[in-house]
Amino acid sequence: MPAGPRTALVTGGSRGIGRAVVERLLADGYDVGYCCRTMPADAADLERLADKHGVRVHGTAVDVTDGTAVRAWLEQAEERLGGLDTLVTNAGIVRDMPLAVMGREHWDAVVGTNLTGTYTVCQAAVMSLMRRRGGSIVAVSSVAGLRGNATQTNYAASKAGIVGFAKSLAKEVARFGIRVNVVAPGLIETDMTAGLDDKARRKVVADIPLRRTGRAEEVADAVAFLASDRAAYITGQVVRIDGGIGI
Ligand code: NAD
Repeated sequence: MPAGPRTALVTGGSRGIGRAVVERLLADGYDVGYCCRTMPADAADLERLADKHGVRVHGTAVDVTDGTAVRAWLEQAEERLGGLDTLVTNAGIVRDMPLAVMGREHWDAVVGTNLTGTYTVCQAAVMSLMRRRGGSIVAVSSVAGLRGNATQTNYAASKAGIVGFAKSLAKEVARFGIRVNVVAPGLIETDMTAGLDDKARRKVVADIPLRRTGRAEEVADAVAFLASDRAAYITGQVVRIDGGIGI
């Protein structure tokens, strides 16, 4: 549990891993602002959950590739929540295909959302964290960024880029008391991976020492830990949540 009232901003909080992170942080006593591409039909469920925990939640449709919209969101969210302690950059997309047929638009969409989107949000937030001389950032990468994955040259490049970005930022802002860490999930059951056919899924699971796919809540637990003061001496790290696939 955080020491006092805390505030967190989460990108891509409408569903999947981001949604689980929002729910975990609300349960841990944070006031949470989240953004997503389009507001989910069940956004009111999060408001009920926030009420239950005596905290606040606010969702906004913001495209992380739009720098002007991101800056406006951060300003409004900070004003509404009364500051910023934790930032979770989770918004991400895939456009999987072999490189031979990967057009520039598929490259730009994935790198633009996943990597440039991470830059855009962190860049807009970092000054405010520096002014308060503290806080934490958790960026969501992927095991694909560490190991590579056929048909994911765009995605893996964007996720590897997030690791280099986060480690550099960790070194840059440590003197302000700001920590920056990364989680690298393996195969997690969300809308993003729902399209995987049974054969491909069985093949991946056969390579996972724990012999199962992961749950969004399992990623959210690690994110919440890294965001919190319980991880006060951890920065610049990549935590894999992958059932051991990287061993
Ligand atoms: P998802 O598709 O279920 O959810 C993605 C979220 O990101 C949604 O809230 C969506 O609105 C938001 N988003 C997408 N583009 C956006 C944009 N331009 N601006 C604002 N929000 C945007 O995906 P997920 O499986 O929950 O994945 C979340 C993160 O975890 C992604 O970064 C993904 O790459 C990463 N990840 C997922 C897995 C997995 O197996 N599911 C594995 C490793 C890493």
